[in-house]
This record gives sequence, C-alpha cells and structure tokens, in this order.
Amino acid sequence: MSSQDGDGTRSVRAGLPEPEAYEPMLPGPVFAAHFHLPGEPTGPYTYGRDENPTWTHLERAIGELEAPPSENGGQAAHTVVFASGMAAVSAVLLSQAKAGDTVVLPDDGYQALPLVREQLEAYGVQVRTAPTAGEAQMAHLPGARLLWIESPSNPGLDVCDIRLLADAAHEAGALVAVDNSLATPLGQRPLDLGADFSVASGTKGLTGHGDILLGYVTCRDAELAARVRRWRKVVGAIPGPMEAWLAHRSLATLQLRADRQGATALALATALRAHPAVRDLRYPGLPDDPSYPTASRQMRRFGCVVSFTLPDRGFAEKFLDGLRLVDDATSFGGLRSTAERRGRWGGDAVPEGFIRLSVGAEDADDLIADVLRSLDATVG
Ligand SMILES: *Cc1c(COP(=O)(O)O)cnc(C)c1O
Repeated sequence: MSSQDGDGTRSVRAGLPEPEAYEPMLPGPVFAAHFHLPGEPTGPYTYGRDENPTWTHLERAIGELEAPPSENGGQAAHTVVFASGMAAVSAVLLSQAKAGDTVVLPDDGYQALPLVREQLEAYGVQVRTAPTAGEAQMAHLPGARLLWIESPSNPGLDVCDIRLLADAAHEAGALVAVDNSLATPLGQRPLDLGADFSVASGTKGLTGHGDILLGYVTCRDAELAARVRRWRKVVGAIPGPMEAWLAHRSLATLQLRADRQGATALALATALRAHPAVRDLRYPGLPDDPSYPTASRQMRRFGCVVSFTLPDRGFAEKFLDGLRLVDDATSFGGLRSTAERRGRWGGDAVPEGFIRLSVGAEDADDLIADVLRSLDATVG
C-alpha cells in the first residue's frame, strides 16, 4: 500500500479551503468565544461552543479521509470533532442509547470502556459484552440498539469481520459504531464496511505527535450526525482551536507516518517472533497472525502497534528499562516509539509480562537493534 492509492494526495490536501489570493493554504486557528452577530442568529458562527471555523476545516479533512467523497458519489460525510477520544466515544453511546435500550460492547477493548459501561447502566441502559475475535458479539445482537466494535482491539490486536457484524446488526435493527483509533482512516474505513459511525481518538496515530488530545465521530447520516453535534453542544466537550489546527497540520503527514510506521512494525514483529523470550507475538499484518485473514480483507494498512508477552513482570520491567530508543510510556501512534507493560494499569485481561509496543518513525534497523539488544541483555 503506498503512493498509488491516493492517500498521500488526500492527506496533504484534506480539508483545505479553496485557494484565495494572499490567504494562507491552511488558515490559522481562530480564537473566538463569540462572533460578530447582528440580527437573527442564523450562523454559521455564533458562539464558540457551537461552531468554530478551525473545527470546520478539520472536520472536512477527517471526513475526506474516512469517506472520500470521490469514491462515494460526491456525498460528503459529516464529522464532529471533540476534546478527546473518550468525549467522542461517550457522545455516540450517550446520544444514541436511552433507558431500556441494549448496547453490545467488546469485553477486550479500550480500558475506559468498563467505565462507560457503568455510566450506561446507571442511566438504565442494558449492556452485553463479548470478545472481538471470532465475531463473538454476533450472538448478542437480538434486541440491541447499538453494536460497538473495536477492531483491531486494543491491546490484544484481535480483529473481527466488520462487514459481517454490521450486516447482522442492521438486520437486528441495531446501529453500528467502530472505534477506528488504532487503524486510523488510512488503515480502515468503517463506513465503507457498513458501520453507521466511525469514532476515534485523534490523540493516537491520526495526529501522531503525542502532544494533543482529540476525538471525532464521522457518519453519513445527517440525522445521526445532528444528534452527536447536539450532544457536543450540551456537554461542551469541545477541542480548543489551537489543538484543532495542530491536528489538521499533522494530517498532512498521515500517509508518510502510517506507511513508515507500519513497515517498521512488520519488520520488528518479524524479528521479535524468532526471539526465545517472546511469546504470543501479535501484529495483524503478519501473514500467520490469527487476525491476518480478516485484517487483510478489510484493512488497507495494519497499524503501528505490536504486542507480545515476556516471561514475567520483572523481565518485562528490565526490558523496558534497557530500551534507549523506545520510551516507557502509554498511548500509541506517535512518531517516537513507546512501549509499556500493560498490566501496570489493571483493567486489561493480560499477563503480567504483556508488552504493547508502538512503533515510531525511527530507522527500522536502529529500532530493531535496540529492542533485540535490550531483550538479550535482559535474558543475561
Ligand atoms: C486512546 C483510546 C481511546 C480514548 O481516547 P482519548 O483521546 O485518550 O480520550 C478510545 N479508544 C481507543 C481504542 C483508544 O486507544
């Protein structure tokens, strides 16, 4: 997957306004709590919690990547940006599900989902859970209002057939949302696979520099989008104009980063697999990975996260401590490689020695040498 698929061109031009003489290509952040507003408040820009021109540019950009209009009969998708990924996740779940509804969540997804579950249940929403692998959520669809998919799942990197689940969910009368944080829109387009919502944390690979928090929701249906936008206005979980502008600026390099980081992730996974201290290595782009058959059908890039298990907690901590080019830090998708012992948070059902490693944009040879050196030093 490289320069042939239009993603590079789309990434650098996404959301740019029509050229205007003596104006910048990407207009700077608009810092305004309120706008000049004579007479009737018909918009588009009235009050800063409702709309902001910097969001508008970013929302167009993300929409063009999640659902390229040229490949969709010219119909643009609607995107709503939020202050964080969790703001976007909550916006979809809490604006769509009401007391008495049933929601199906993954039980191996992002670590804050159990908190969301508690909140949904406190509002009288029934929650069912099942693992991502093997489309296990399928059995829980009858009577559901909304199916939440996270594929690849974080941190286990299992993958499910989004098209298959979305068709079954729609048959059962349920809406479908896919968490696209790990894949980014260049790795996977959930709306093309039948989902009603593509939801993501833009904090991760989308913006890729580890310096801002952001979230977004993209959907094709104007009414669904309007409910999400109304939720943002009610809750006020809005991104700052500076963050929105930085995010847009970062999108220009998305294809470069996704290709580079994905290629290095595959090379690192291949090198690590052969190491005697490494067990249960997972990367959806490895041809013999359990996720590969489905991932290779529905994903366009496999992401930058590799996971594996080391013998125990002490081994894992010593390994992380010995790395020079990989920071011990949470999150993923950044230009600088990071890794962590996921079990330190509690919450994820992972072994004590489980490592989630996010591959950055360092030279592959340097990174692989550093990781193998630290592993060998830990073995002693
Ligand atoms: C990080 C993450 C989130 C939450 O995003 P924030 O920007 O941290 O609020 C949601 N889903 C997945 C899969 C994530 O990795």
